[in-house]
Amino acid sequence: MALIVQKFGGTSVADSGKILAAARRAIQAHLRGDQVVVVVSARGHTTDELIALAREITDQPPARELDMLLSTGEQVSVALMAMAVQSLGVPAISFTGAQIGLVTDSFHTRARIRDISTERIRSALDRGQIVIVAGFQGIDQNANITTLGRGGSDTTAVALAAVLGADACEIYTDVDGVYTTDPRLVAEARKIDRISYDEMLELASLGAGVMHSRSIEFAKKYGVPIHVRSSFSDAEGTWIVGEADARLVGVSVTGAALQKDEARVTVLGVPDRPGVVHELFRRIGRAAIVVDMIVQNVATDGTTEVSFTVAAGDLPQTLRVAEEAARFIGAAGVDHDPEVAKVSIVGLGMRTHTGVATIMFRALAEAGINIQMITTSEIKISVLVERAAAVPALRAVHKAFGLEELASVRIADFRPRRLASPALGIVTPEDGQGPVDPGMEDLVIAGVELDTSQARVTLLDLPDRPGYAARVFQEIADAGVFVDMIVQNAAQAGNTHLSFTVPRVMVDNAAAAASRAEPRCRVAVQPELSKLSVIGVGMRTHTGVATRMFGALAQQGINIALISTSEVRINVLTDLASGPSGLACLRQAFGLPEVSLAAS
Ligand code: ADP
Ligand code: ASP
Ligand code: MG
Repeated sequence: MALIVQKFGGTSVADSGKILAAARRAIQAHLRGDQVVVVVSARGHTTDELIALAREITDQPPARELDMLLSTGEQVSVALMAMAVQSLGVPAISFTGAQIGLVTDSFHTRARIRDISTERIRSALDRGQIVIVAGFQGIDQNANITTLGRGGSDTTAVALAAVLGADACEIYTDVDGVYTTDPRLVAEARKIDRISYDEMLELASLGAGVMHSRSIEFAKKYGVPIHVRSSFSDAEGTWIVGEADARLVGVSVTGAALQKDEARVTVLGVPDRPGVVHELFRRIGRAAIVVDMIVQNVATDGTTEVSFTVAAGDLPQTLRVAEEAARFIGAAGVDHDPEVAKVSIVGLGMRTHTGVATIMFRALAEAGINIQMITTSEIKISVLVERAAAVPALRAVHKAFGLEELASVRIADFRPRRLASPALGIVTPEDGQGPVDPGMEDLVIAGVELDTSQARVTLLDLPDRPGYAARVFQEIADAGVFVDMIVQNAAQAGNTHLSFTVPRVMVDNAAAAASRAEPRCRVAVQPELSKLSVIGVGMRTHTGVATRMFGALAQQGINIALISTSEVRINVLTDLASGPSGLACLRQAFGLPEVSLAAS
């Protein structure tokens, strides 16, 4: 007998007919002999309507009362679903988040799950009932109702699957799986048969709204296989699984995503000394603003520019905080662009395929789209473009990687394995000092790494026009050089610096290739660098990680020369000599056991 969790999204329970159809699906599994837990979202646009209603009363609804209001949407759904199952002759019982003891922290409207008690669910299952649980909601330690953030029912479902040891979590929605990109934006998008947790984590956090990214953090931490599929057909959907089951041979890029409503903020003339970046992001973190892309380029004349993006709605507050911070740290000022969008590509295959960046940059150049900012990590490349070019940019990139022809390798009768020993690392509460009373959704740090083999090449004062990135990386790829991080900051006065790291042994070849591509540009080489990485799960949704990392380095007096971030790691470059002490202070800051430096 299997235990499965089925989650039905808003459109899948929008009216009574759809609720009955969902009930029949649950019953089908029940009659097969499985124990079934159903998680439901609010019907249709209920959550949006409730938010609009609150806004009719006040511009700034108090968060506690907003949660009280929003949680009603899911409560309506569970009651109707339980009635539907019972009307079809099968015993069922509905529960709110509070009733199953889904305990969260107290951050209203974006609460994190701390604990779920399974007793009540288990005893109902043992009585032969289908258990129906309200998604998206919980209670804090003082019994206040909380919600998990928009799209959070996915997270309830996967978290339940995790604590119950379910064999799978089925996500029923209005598409029949995870596509190579949003099929509403690119009609040529193709369904992906299997995708790894890390790829889905990146895609979800880079804009693929099909899954709440925090649900994938749970899935990865606890080894839960997820099956995303259509409520309206029986077609096999997409399995989100461990890397060993997901890897598609010969595919470098698995999907593309768009985050349309971003704003860029650049702090200009930032003094290049330890602690300055930390001070900036500490202030932003304290204001509870979620920062997305962080880009810091090389310092020239003792100052550097630090850019980052935030959700467009957070711009006014971010500017206030950034301007204050700029004054405090003695920066020259703050510049911003409210109308940008981020286009990203994601794929495990990028780790081993060279030239992926070249293809992306060339596609954008050929479409006449200027790249304003670049950041990369092991399995993703993100670029910032003007918002008006967002969808054309996504289409161009999707086509360039042949994603409309992506035919994944289908293994007959693929059945995922629930991972026996999930990849759990050390749990460190973001605000606490050590691993005390870890909550289910606390940050997991898997490790800290030091790489002393990299060198950096920078093209200084490149004229900011479409095409240069494509030219440079074509020349680099032709020279057979493997590029690791790429970082380009927003242009100032029409010029920008483009930096990338390569294995030190290849740095001369790389610099020569860069000069060939841009003969009029000055090329600077920094052959001796340390790359320090903090690795974990859900690094970006836990906004405190970057701040803690920068803070630890600042305390040690270590200057940060370059930054890149992703869902699974934050990388910084420092001078070569600072590597070992940087590694030690980061291990300490993240509560990892000390290791002898010789062993690292
Ligand atoms: P639900 O209400 O069931 O949770 P959502 O609206 O949250 O459904 O998610 C499904 C939607 O996600 C799809 O209709 C689709 O437009 C959008 N989407 C964005 N990116 C992707 C993608 N890569 N694959 C599939 N759907 C995507
Ligand atoms: N009803 C909530 C929302 O609309 C949660 C969810 O649907 O996942 O965001
Ligand atoms: Mg959703």
